[in-house]
Amino acid sequence: MKEKSIELTIPSQPKISVNSSRLFRREIFSVIRNYHQETLSQPTNLLTIPTKSRAEDQHDVVFKQQLSFNGIAKRDIASLGKTQGQLIILGSGWAGFKLLKDLSTKHYEVTVISPRNYFVFTPLLASSSVGTLEFRCITEPIRRYSPKIKYYQAYADTIDLKKQVIHCTSNIEHKKHEFSIDYDKLIIAVGAKSNTFGIKGVDEHAFFLKDISDARKIRSRVIECFEHASQPDVTKKEATDLLHFVVVGGGPTGIEFSGELYDFITEDMARLYPGLINLVTMTVYDVAPQILGSFDASLRDFATKKFKRKGINICTNRHVMEVKEREIIIEEEGSIPYGMLVWSTGLTENPLIHSMSDQLIKDKSAKRLLTDEYLRVLSKETGQALDNVYALGDCASIENYDLPATAQVANQKAKYLSKALSKIAPEKESITGTEPFKFRNFGSMAYIGKYTAVVDMTPVSEKAKEGGILAWLFWRSSYFTMTVSLRNKMLIPMYW
Ligand SMILES: Cc1cc2nc3c(=O)[nH]c(=O)nc-3n(C[C@H](O)[C@H](O)[C@H](O)COP(=O)(O)OP(=O)(O)OC[C@H]3O[C@@H](n4cnc5c(N)ncnc54)[C@H](O)[C@@H]3O)c2cc1C
Repeated sequence: MKEKSIELTIPSQPKISVNSSRLFRREIFSVIRNYHQETLSQPTNLLTIPTKSRAEDQHDVVFKQQLSFNGIAKRDIASLGKTQGQLIILGSGWAGFKLLKDLSTKHYEVTVISPRNYFVFTPLLASSSVGTLEFRCITEPIRRYSPKIKYYQAYADTIDLKKQVIHCTSNIEHKKHEFSIDYDKLIIAVGAKSNTFGIKGVDEHAFFLKDISDARKIRSRVIECFEHASQPDVTKKEATDLLHFVVVGGGPTGIEFSGELYDFITEDMARLYPGLINLVTMTVYDVAPQILGSFDASLRDFATKKFKRKGINICTNRHVMEVKEREIIIEEEGSIPYGMLVWSTGLTENPLIHSMSDQLIKDKSAKRLLTDEYLRVLSKETGQALDNVYALGDCASIENYDLPATAQVANQKAKYLSKALSKIAPEKESITGTEPFKFRNFGSMAYIGKYTAVVDMTPVSEKAKEGGILAWLFWRSSYFTMTVSLRNKMLIPMYW
């Protein structure tokens, strides 16, 4: 093997010459550790040192060895034995988390970049927003899953597909800085953001339900509304307005949240604020003619009747014009006062996906990246699939095979991709040699409050639909089975 010498220049330290064939982990790490031990987590001041590795000699791959002498080896020296180089996963949601859990680190040096260092089990987020479950029951710290996986708490801002470089901004309090990182394989799983349709005031005044921080804000706002309404100088009219809880969006997320909120108010708040409970109202607004549009018609009717019986107003065919601090303006009804408004009307593109419009083909809505059936993104320049860039989850859609933006789809795509990538790694084959992705629809379900759920499994079997307590038992047991760690499998039943 041809030997090559490289020079490591560390500020305020003498130059060190290291023989590339002796670039063993211990040598490099001791150099790095001697310099700034305390900043061992974010890549800064990157110095690119093209060199040849042992892996290159074996596989004739040109690797770029990148080191940051502010304390971190951007490409870990241990990765030189990985025949497939650096694989970067953007996002730690349903798609990214499943991938990082399942992907073999034998052939890939896996790095995850995400602004949050945990995974959120979104189907139970509504429960945690009203305190049925504690936040820790529905999160999984991503670092726990494999010490072999590197993680940077950052946003990917832009991607240069030609140079194979991702430009990021760290998401660490008090220390936001920019850095770049290169990749050999890239998996884009950044999800999508809540769609406000550009309606005035929504961003400023509405609450969203996408992350733990949102659930926390909702929980404290509900309590604040009750506390405010119980102040001595508050009139009955003011208290009634404060205790009007509005949900915009009658899809599964909006409906589940309404069901959970109803339980919280009628079970917990009724006990704590008995004098106020008769003033509480809840309203669900939707632009569509019915709620739960993706469910079977009989289940939609069942849920609507249950809501009406509980006194939850369902206002369909309504157009929201504006949201003010304490009022919502509806085209058909005018100004309606509220105490808290939760916005759950679907998804729009993540800013990273928006930034890629010049480089990659998007779906008809122009909000999701279009991929082929192997989940490879499609270049705008050539119209061809890029062999080393994949997209999945809410930010991607397969050409001529449109699937809903659900955890079920994200999870299955991630499972498929981790299996396919692990399979092709040893011989460095193309993914087109494997089976293309196929979705298995297991149906959908939603909790509608008071131990009642709707379960629609008609895609599996025509008659498999249920609404009521049995469906609720099914709903709970399914999500219990799907929770990830043993810790949460033990914690969740304790709260339930
Ligand atoms: C309250 C709620 C309840 C739901 N219930 C269900 C259900 O019961 N069943 C179901 O099938 N689906 C459900 N869904 C939908 C499901 O959660 C989504 O379809 C799923 O989360 C999509 O997975 P994803 O990995 O694409 O995106 P996400 O899970 O949203 O994850 C995206 C990840 O990317 C990260 N990220 C964002 N921007 C960047 C960036 N620039 N760079 C790097 N990382 C970035 C985020 O921090 C996050 O970690 C629910 C959603 C919500 C909000």
